[in-house]
Amino acid sequence: MPKFSTLNLAKPILAALNDQGYHTPTPIQDKSIPPALEGHDLLGCAQTGTGKTAAFALPILNTLHTMPVDKSRKGPRTPRALVLSPTRELANQINDSFNTYGQHTHLRATPIFGGVSQHHQVRAIRRGVDVLVATPGRLMDLMEQRLIDLRDVEILVLDEADRMLDMGFIDPIRKITAALPKRRQTLLFSATMPRNIVKLADSLLTDPVRITVTPPASEIPLVEQSLYKIPRDAKPVVLEHLLLDEDVKRALVFSRTKHGADRITKRLIRSGISAVAIHGDKAQNQRLRALKAFRDGRTRVLVATDVAARGLDVDAITHVINFDLPNEPEAYVHRIGRTGRAGSKGIAISFCSPDERKYLFAIERLTKTRLPQMVVPMDMRSSPESEQHTTQSTDRPRPPREQEHTHAGRSNGAKPNNNFRNAKKRTSKSTGKKRQARNGPNASNASNAHSATRGPGQKRQRPGTGVSRKARRSARNNAPS
Ligand code: AMP
Repeated sequence: MPKFSTLNLAKPILAALNDQGYHTPTPIQDKSIPPALEGHDLLGCAQTGTGKTAAFALPILNTLHTMPVDKSRKGPRTPRALVLSPTRELANQINDSFNTYGQHTHLRATPIFGGVSQHHQVRAIRRGVDVLVATPGRLMDLMEQRLIDLRDVEILVLDEADRMLDMGFIDPIRKITAALPKRRQTLLFSATMPRNIVKLADSLLTDPVRITVTPPASEIPLVEQSLYKIPRDAKPVVLEHLLLDEDVKRALVFSRTKHGADRITKRLIRSGISAVAIHGDKAQNQRLRALKAFRDGRTRVLVATDVAARGLDVDAITHVINFDLPNEPEAYVHRIGRTGRAGSKGIAISFCSPDERKYLFAIERLTKTRLPQMVVPMDMRSSPESEQHTTQSTDRPRPPREQEHTHAGRSNGAKPNNNFRNAKKRTSKSTGKKRQARNGPNASNASNAHSATRGPGQKRQRPGTGVSRKARRSARNNAPS
């Protein structure tokens, strides 16, 4: 195994790696750093979790550190490296990595992204910056206001290029690259290599060194995947059931819509499971707060949409749960890549309701795998609202039966005997008062009150209408994120 010390990196950078306890480069680092240090363009097919940030950050820091600065130049330092990232979270993470690996150099990195006031970002640029880590939208804004000078950029990185194109950033990317010097080094990383990325790479890279570290976005060896084929209205109960397992230390739950993410979160909180939502409608400070709580372990469950969760680097996510299947199969690969990172093992569980079968086929075609199917206990196959609301942490459902797979690797007998079926019976027989005493003041009396008159799977209906209020609200709000 090669060591960082054999890769020709400058002493301050090796010292920072040592501080982090990193001695051995990951495969992408081992393959990228030498050609990048020689000034070659790179085309890297790799996902987050492989160590790809350091694969470009280390050679960039090394080059900027060893490159003489033009002392005759007056005014603050202008960026010599520009990293484009699809999301604010990823931009922040990349920026943190530059500052960590560059802590013993005099180089300065700063992030630029939308959703917050540009004031501090403009001040940071005016103070002088060596590495700019930006999302394309805000960078374009600052360029149009002439607040940023990119004429000295010598190295450009496009990180998660496929995602940037998915998010419609092709025009900003074209405009930004057109404003950069023609003579520069360009490093492009993408988890997948669809035709539009190959075309973009052809137009931006010169004779690139091609690097692929993991099989191209289709095989995820460290993630144990499985599938629950369940009706849409059973998903919340099965989710709660899974999250009550103590082996689920840190879980990322994906919803297809922002409204769905909020709804799942509220419901989990009501069931005594600490959860927080993160999606594109949340203000930047809310998103940061949510992420911090999740990172610090104060919140065990983060419920996210694809837009918000892309590129998330949170250590030790034990479980990714696809509450909804994504409508783009590549997103499935990205989602489950949030777990099983940097050598640890992860578990990815997906729910598939009948209306999502087409998404499942697309995922199985892309990943060339048949997702192993789990069996849902009989008593969880339908889920009247009332029962879902009253599934408290003390009323733990029975885990799947013996012969079924369990993600915790335990058999049925290992769990406390809190029978889901019993919880159900108790709910329908209780009076409102008793129910409130047992479930606490936050339990939903309104929906419980209907439970005795509704059969399993039946939704609460407004008198005189054939459609439940919830179904109507959901149809209104379920715009994609
Ligand atoms: P990335 O793919 O850049 O998001 O990195 C995934 C995780 O691996 C991050 O938490 C890094 O800090 C960590 N990491 C990066 N390089 C190494 C290394 N050489 N040895 C151990 N961990 C690393």
